[in-house]
Amino acid sequence: MGKIFGTFGVRGVYPDFLNEEFAMKMGRAFGTFLRGYEENPRVVVGRDSRRSGESLMLAFIAGLLSSGVDVIDVGLLPTPLVQFSSRILKVSGGAVITASHNPPQYNGIKLLEGNGMGLSRKKEGIVEEIFESEKFFEVNTWKMGRRIAMDVREQYFREVESRIDIDAVKSRKPFILVDEAGGAGAVVLPEILEKLGCKVLSVNSHTSGFFSARNPEPNEKNLEDTRKMVKALSPDLAVAQDGDADRAVFLTRDGKFVQGDKTFALVEKFTLEQKKGPVVTTVATSDIIDEVAKIFGVKVYRTKVGDLVVTGKLLEVNGIIGGEENGGVIFPDIVLGRDGMFTTVRIVEAISKTERNFEELLLELPVFYQFKGKISFEGDRKKAVEDFAKLVLKEGYKVDTTDGTKIFFKDGWVLVRASGTEPIIRVFTESRIKGNEEKYYEFAVSRLKKLYPDLEVEV
Ligand code: MG
Repeated sequence: MGKIFGTFGVRGVYPDFLNEEFAMKMGRAFGTFLRGYEENPRVVVGRDSRRSGESLMLAFIAGLLSSGVDVIDVGLLPTPLVQFSSRILKVSGGAVITASHNPPQYNGIKLLEGNGMGLSRKKEGIVEEIFESEKFFEVNTWKMGRRIAMDVREQYFREVESRIDIDAVKSRKPFILVDEAGGAGAVVLPEILEKLGCKVLSVNSHTSGFFSARNPEPNEKNLEDTRKMVKALSPDLAVAQDGDADRAVFLTRDGKFVQGDKTFALVEKFTLEQKKGPVVTTVATSDIIDEVAKIFGVKVYRTKVGDLVVTGKLLEVNGIIGGEENGGVIFPDIVLGRDGMFTTVRIVEAISKTERNFEELLLELPVFYQFKGKISFEGDRKKAVEDFAKLVLKEGYKVDTTDGTKIFFKDGWVLVRASGTEPIIRVFTESRIKGNEEKYYEFAVSRLKKLYPDLEVEV
């Protein structure tokens, strides 16, 4: 892997790491890369709501135009809608100026394939080489690219509308509270829900770019105020999105935070009821996914962590639905990446069709107990996870090393993984039996301590 592209494409603080000069250079590098494949490439470009987004996007677009690439500017839009635009507009590639759930001073560039999927690591490597070499493709006045602006929201809405039982939603008229954190979802989701016939209360929907109301990462802690509001208003469903709205997390009417695995399982169930097919998820996701798949007799494929890997596998096995434990769900026939908008719409449809509450639907899912811990680790954390695998293999446990080290027990599992970005080792556990999730955590910690006696464990 190169130095510029990380797990999430390019990402950093504006303007220290990522500034207009950098963005323009990246536009030129991506343009040069695309010119290597075809003579007249077209690229879709969009952005999330960060204040630096507009000027970085203009600089990036200038880089593309100067390489003779035409640009379709879809403006401020959730990442999934930029991905959707790439697919329907039949372009050569795409880009989103976004830093997803990071604080407002961050921004980033995520490059896309022509079909809207994230650009592969291999291709990112080539773009990076061009960026470093500064050998850019240049054109004269007569060959310069052109930029046109386009609004694709209506097309996306029609796509959504054609896939759900809109009459069921219209007759139920569920009350939905939407918290967008001031992110890109604000320009799409509240309106879609309203058009479908929901009563919508939209909060934090001002897209000033500063995320002043709450941190754009929709975790339990950052949603404290939202939870209070939900408790007071008791909506049929409350949804909170991250800054670029590829993820959606949900709260019950009494303000309880619902784990991403559970909503994924719920959406999986309602999707499979309509059409059967393979399901793809990562090794870090709950076995609820397998339990639901079993009801419909479909296969579950497990991959490494990361939406790009899940999407790749979905294409390979012709999967129906994919997802991750963080609340990201992928519907490959609409968008080749996580889509927090359609995830929400599916749940709204489920509530309306079954005439049951969100809470009741959750109670119908199989119960698993989970524990998610992290351990500070300054040394070579990848090696530590490998050493852990060797040790437990010697002890006779069944080990899966798809991503990190996963050990299976009769009633559950433990997964030990090195973080890709921080000096920590993550330990996730799950069991059907209450209490065992903590025992399995202790199991992993005791082995890690055996290997590294100085290890300091904080939960
Ligand atoms: Mg995101």
